[in-house]
Amino acid sequence: MYYDYHIHSNFSPDSKTSMEDMIKKSISLNLTEICFTDHMEHNEKGDSTWIIDYDKYFKEYNILKEKYKDKISVKIGVEMGLQTHIIDKCRDDVLTNPFDFVILSQHAIDEKDFSLRGYFEGKTQKQAYETYFLKLYEIIKNFKHYSVLGHLDLIKRYGNYDSLLDDRLFSDIIEEILKTVINDNRGIEVNTSCYRYKLPDLTPSRYILKMYKDLGGEIITTGSDSHSDTHIASNFDYIYHYLKEIGFKYICSFDKMKPNFIKI
Ligand SMILES: [Zn+2]
Ligand SMILES: [Zn+2]
Repeated sequence: MYYDYHIHSNFSPDSKTSMEDMIKKSISLNLTEICFTDHMEHNEKGDSTWIIDYDKYFKEYNILKEKYKDKISVKIGVEMGLQTHIIDKCRDDVLTNPFDFVILSQHAIDEKDFSLRGYFEGKTQKQAYETYFLKLYEIIKNFKHYSVLGHLDLIKRYGNYDSLLDDRLFSDIIEEILKTVINDNRGIEVNTSCYRYKLPDLTPSRYILKMYKDLGGEIITTGSDSHSDTHIASNFDYIYHYLKEIGFKYICSFDKMKPNFIKI
């Protein structure tokens, strides 16, 4: 009955689970549909670690999609790591590959990955968060070839701070981001990796989800951000219930970049 729209297979360097094992587990969980969203991170250093071999990716996907078509619907997407200096490369990828769905994620700024110390050095916590949101806004003003924003407040996962800063400190810029998303007919995702990272709130936070709803946002996907089959659709019972509670009537699936609205 659920749609997990954020799944990594071993086409991502940080997952060891094959596409086929992810599909089998999703069938055992009775999911209606899943979408593979393996990592693609262009960079200027020529580092190929996070570069997908699209030929192999689509070939494997097409075989498995067909093999399991009577048991589960499987879609193909990508989690595209955006930075301002690689926007053209990312756009080319989306235009030249038959994706159903594209997650726009910001995992690094100026090639400084948030999971490493470099990005936070020389910044206060407020500056680190603010820079993250401002850069994301700059990206979505110039890049429209995506379906949803991935883990919109990802920065809260990193930096080793004792506590997180209140969203209200950044409400103006968050509002501008959400208005741009809505105006462009794009969406956001709820990413249930917040439970694995033991964050005190959802990703994005309840404050951001409610703001999105209040501003008229309707396109929303649910994703576990699974990198192994143990996390597929994790906490989806609660998420579907919560989205309904705050007024969402539908979640979305995607077909060749077009949203379908599924009643919840
Ligand atoms: Zn991500
Ligand atoms: Zn991911």
